Amino acid sequence: MNKTIFEKIILREIPATIHHEDDDLIIIDDINPVAPIHLLIIPKKKIETLNDLNAEDTELIGKMFQAAKKMAIKLGIDKSGYRTIFNCNEDGGQTVYHIHLHFIGGRSLGWPPG
Ligand code: AMP
Repeated sequence: MNKTIFEKIILREIPATIHHEDDDLIIIDDINPVAPIHLLIIPKKKIETLNDLNAEDTELIGKMFQAAKKMAIKLGIDKSGYRTIFNCNEDGGQTVYHIHLHFIGGRSLGWPPG
């Protein structure tokens, strides 16, 4: 199967601005930010969509949100606020089929999304 853009970033085949990396996750800047802060929290395990999550992935998903909380504190936006989003499939706006948590902040965000 072809590698996704995120697998290529994890393998250092293409560059990215990396904020954090451990055995399970990598956190990078989104190349096309929608706000002053727009990170992508990406599991190293390739899971194509949220629909492909298994029970064994529960801890991994928890780690992604723990990472979001830590980044919010590190970036000083935990109090002002931020948003985390998983897009799923076409109507959800997913374009890269390797799950990733968008972490967006640094300005007041509108609701509902378009
Ligand atoms: P989604 O549309 O939810 O699948 O999100 C995919 C995100 O990946 C988009 O916000 C893109 O801007 C971002 N993206 C695509 N290519 C790259 C890249 N090479 N480096 C960083 N972010 C990327």
